Amino acid sequence: ASDHPDTRAFLTHVCQIMINAEADLNALDAKSGDGDTGSTLANAARALQSAMDDLPLADHTQLFRALGQELSQTMGGSSGVLLAIFFAAAGDAASSGVSTIDALKAGLTRMQEIGGAELGDRTMVDAMHPALDALPGGIPAAAAAARAGANATAAMLQAKAGRAAYVNAAQLEGHNDPGAEAVARLFEQLS
Ligand code: ADP
Ligand code: MG
Ligand code: MG
Repeated sequence: ASDHPDTRAFLTHVCQIMINAEADLNALDAKSGDGDTGSTLANAARALQSAMDDLPLADHTQLFRALGQELSQTMGGSSGVLLAIFFAAAGDAASSGVSTIDALKAGLTRMQEIGGAELGDRTMVDAMHPALDALPGGIPAAAAAARAGANATAAMLQAKAGRAAYVNAAQLEGHNDPGAEAVARLFEQLS
């Protein structure tokens, strides 16, 4: 459908940002994991771009749920499962009439309940949580918060969630968590 040009352009931009970050995020994941965070996100972004005509762009509730479903089908890895949960829960929250930002926060809460990551555990939560808290102040404010959160992961040497939990501290030091870096780049390049 060629309707809802603003939502379509926004989603297309989000996908393009993730596709452009593929190599950098793979390189970061190679330092603490299995080197595939960038490809996992970029493959999902390419699939979303192909599915754009079938997405329910008119309605946030339906769109969040559709994104959750699409990601659960196209993304492997920890990040895929967790982001599918995030969007499914955001869709459920949006259906009860809360604001878009509150729906995204409910998605994050659910993702943390299922995935068990707290702030400081060296995951994408360390960028998403401060970004969503700052988002009422606009995307540039969220980008600054996400960047500070992502950069702080470079000094988090006791990862408690994800593959980085099995990597020793010396190997983690000085490198941002790839999931957190993805979130920071997304907000920075949207602003
Ligand atoms: P995999 O480790 O399965 O290869 P990816 O490379 O796609 O998964 O994603 C890794 C990213 O997922 C990590 O950098 C981290 O940000 C995020 N992550 C991993 N486990 C969790 C978790 N339990 N909660 C939140 N985020 C997580
Ligand atoms: Mg990986
Ligand atoms: Mg993997």
